[in-house]
Amino acid sequence: METADVVVVGCGVVGASVAYHLGRRGAGQKVLVLEREKAPCTGSTPLSAGGIRQQFSSEVNVRLSRLSVDFYTRMAEELGCDFEFEQRGYLFVTADEGTAARMRENASLQRRLGVPVEEVSAAEVARRWPYVRSDDLVLGTFCPTDGYADPYEATMGFWQAARRLPGVEFRFATPVVRIEHEGERVTHVVTQHGRIAAGWVVDCAGPWLREVGRMADLDLAAEPIRRCLWNTEPFAGIEGRIPLTIDVDSGFYTRSESGGLMLGLANPDEPPGFNFVVDDDWLPVVVEKGIDRIPCLAEAEVNRGWAGHYSTTPDHLPILCEVPWLRGFVSAGGFSGHGFMHAPATGLLVSEIILDGGARSVDIGALSIERFRGDAKLVPEATVI
Ligand SMILES: Cc1cc2nc3c(=O)[nH]c(=O)nc-3n(C[C@H](O)[C@H](O)[C@H](O)COP(=O)(O)OP(=O)(O)OC[C@H]3O[C@@H](n4cnc5c(N)ncnc54)[C@H](O)[C@@H]3O)c2cc1C
Repeated sequence: METADVVVVGCGVVGASVAYHLGRRGAGQKVLVLEREKAPCTGSTPLSAGGIRQQFSSEVNVRLSRLSVDFYTRMAEELGCDFEFEQRGYLFVTADEGTAARMRENASLQRRLGVPVEEVSAAEVARRWPYVRSDDLVLGTFCPTDGYADPYEATMGFWQAARRLPGVEFRFATPVVRIEHEGERVTHVVTQHGRIAAGWVVDCAGPWLREVGRMADLDLAAEPIRRCLWNTEPFAGIEGRIPLTIDVDSGFYTRSESGGLMLGLANPDEPPGFNFVVDDDWLPVVVEKGIDRIPCLAEAEVNRGWAGHYSTTPDHLPILCEVPWLRGFVSAGGFSGHGFMHAPATGLLVSEIILDGGARSVDIGALSIERFRGDAKLVPEATVI
């Protein structure tokens, strides 16, 4: 029977990063990545907005972002791949006093953790980002080392680098159909092509995290939820490329893309479940909220939209841990809208769980699946768009 030290399920940006980090440090361990589709990066990763930010409300997310930003700034050089991280910043703005107070608290946490975030007045927003309507603003926060990048390029970079490392193998068109365990230890992964004895299984199945968890009799509390994005044609009114800009009060966000802008706004009434149809009924709300904050958008023409899925947990934080009641099974999912930006840190931390007996670079106790057991109060990530 075939054996592997580690089987990684899924080859999106998270699975590819896990394979890269394990292969780089793995001292010849056999790492087998099983992907059900015929190629890497066909799940939620290529449908993402590509945003990378450090402005979060929870310490653990800020720490994951700090590690990942550091990695993404040196990725092209370290992996010898095409990858551009455009550090144009993230600009959050609000016209609400209560929201501004929470943003100030978050900014002070972020600064304490080494993030160079600035608090900016309405006048400052008007001067530096004149495309933003600022007459009613109470506060903006801006972090110049945030930005955006192409998630497809990142995944290809991880994949190409990982497949050159000794011990790492990728197998496509190979859906995992069952994960076997003996008592509290994972033992085998079953695909349509056969059975593989495995010491570790890492669930990197993105929005299918729970489905893959169920194959091992686990309930990983993450639901897929549809999220849509639209692009505009190039249009007059904005000079150069802009930071990823978020109107916190409406949830509308935008960034430069292909000469125009990318537009997003989560529909709060979206039910959980898979749905790949673009929600064009929601587009008028997106455009209305967009024009309200960025008036020149009235001149823009939307030319395409697409739908993907967040993998959403009850507290919008990932489940990143070895499952204590199923040794050898690692959950690396439930990232909400942050799986691309947190993929480098996740790859490193999973390699530490497997090779060092536990996460070393960041204390990820808050991301354990154990938080959903018992009566402990969840502390949700509040900065989710
Ligand atoms: C509209 C939208 C905007 C977003 N914007 C951002 C953003 O700005 N920044 C950010 O960081 N994140 C963003 N995200 C979230 C981000 O896309 C995800 O968190 C991230 O891509 C998750 O990567 P992944 O590798 O875990 O999952 P995926 O890319 O979905 O990969 C999972 C893989 O697992 C495979 N798989 C599933 N089941 C099996 C099986 N049984 N056997 C084998 N393989 C299997 C799938 O085929 C797939 O290839 C956004 C998401 C959406 C939808």
